[in-house]
Amino acid sequence: MADIRPQPGIMDIELYVGGQSSLPGVRDVVKLSSNENPFGPSPAAVEAFRSAAHALHRYPSTDHASLRAAIGEVHGLDPARIICGVGSDEILQFLCQCYAGPGDEVLHTEHGFAIYRIGALAAGATPIAVPERDRTTDVDALLAACTERTRLVFIANPNNPTGTMIGTGEIMRLADNLPPRALLVLDGAYAEFVDGYDGGAKIIGQRDNVVMTRTFSKLYGLGGLRIGWGYGPQEIIDVLNRVRGPFNLSEPQLAAAEAAVRDRAFADRCASENARLRVWLAEALAGHGVPSDPSFGNFILARFADEAEALAADAWLKADGIIVRRVAGYGFPQCLRITVGDEAACRRVAHAIGTFREDQA
Ligand SMILES: *Cc1c(COP(=O)(O)O)cnc(C)c1O
Repeated sequence: MADIRPQPGIMDIELYVGGQSSLPGVRDVVKLSSNENPFGPSPAAVEAFRSAAHALHRYPSTDHASLRAAIGEVHGLDPARIICGVGSDEILQFLCQCYAGPGDEVLHTEHGFAIYRIGALAAGATPIAVPERDRTTDVDALLAACTERTRLVFIANPNNPTGTMIGTGEIMRLADNLPPRALLVLDGAYAEFVDGYDGGAKIIGQRDNVVMTRTFSKLYGLGGLRIGWGYGPQEIIDVLNRVRGPFNLSEPQLAAAEAAVRDRAFADRCASENARLRVWLAEALAGHGVPSDPSFGNFILARFADEAEALAADAWLKADGIIVRRVAGYGFPQCLRITVGDEAACRRVAHAIGTFREDQA
């Protein structure tokens, strides 16, 4: 009789539930549930993807030299200290796999991204949720939660689903006061949406205990293609490269990502449209009595009176063909996360929430 069992921790992982993408029987659906770029990817990235289709019989590059050089050029980083992965998710998993195991603790903020917990459990480590203050990363609470077993500290800056972020001084204070065996991971999935923010690159350049992860899924509109990257101290990048599959990224992925990062005009246009419409949407919702914290990402976390109102608003929006994200699983049953769409989508969701509130009154 076989006795096949998964490793300890695996069965504690809840299956990830993604944003909904269709509404049966409803046409003209607007999807604002997965923080996707409403303008899609750069046309240059689509063209590069198409061209790469001619060589699908060839194995891809194993060292991603061309993409790393492009990222290094655009961000002013040493390409040798960049690693590319299947989404930044894969880099986050490498970090857990390489630096945490049974008996080790992995800290993440209370309302942090689900992947931190999944990665920690998959590695057999113990994930620890640390309280936030006013829906914002709390450096004092993170430092207080550190023990000699702490190996990884994950913060998303800006964070999803809160949209809030902490400043460079606070990040440095966190990095400089961690126990010697703890590595700080700055998840910069939304860093590109923050004008003048380098995702922590400068802080990393001056320390040996900080890494950052970045993605092509959000600003670059390539979530469907799965490309991300990480940057950190050389020793750490060399460790991660040992567990990375040699052919983890295909040539169409690499070519599209390189074209996307080089198309600065397109990226800048997407970022400025997002900034403009994010303010407009937040103000429109506030005008309808639905507040949100100032967001630094491409979404806002709309706060309703309670869970019942959030559920009713979600149903109202769905009936109108608008899909947003319920975030009860992130500890916000009273909230809905709404991606900043294009102007028409923002007007449509604001109008629908206005009619919902009138109907409630
Ligand atoms: C979307 C997102 C990512 C990106 O994941 P990919 O695997 O690169 O698509 C990472 N972290 C956070 C907090 C996110 O919201």
